[in-house]
Amino acid sequence: MIPRYRPLVDHWDWQRYALCRGMDTSLFFSPAGERGRARQVREEKARAICAACAVREVCARTALNSGEQYGFWGGLTEGEREAIRLRLRRRNLPPRAA
Ligand code: SF4
Repeated sequence: MIPRYRPLVDHWDWQRYALCRGMDTSLFFSPAGERGRARQVREEKARAICAACAVREVCARTALNSGEQYGFWGGLTEGEREAIRLRLRRRNLPPRAA
């Protein structure tokens, strides 16, 4: 039997609709040593962009499913994704956006 693979282009096709497309990635990825207020301000800006994004849910789900450890995806920080993963693991459920 031939395995059915989804074409990679379909799998990532949602990124064509990403509101952050073409934006400075430093808004979504923490620079080394970033702490406190600077981090909070950057994350608030990223969260506002994600909130208006048409593909926010699939973006968050992709990051959760792939175990993405870095960056702001689908309106979720690294810590928020980890908290969701832990909660789902405790309930023995697959990763998904909350
Ligand atoms: S949800 Fe946020 S990080 Fe994801 S594609 Fe949209 S703007 Fe980019």
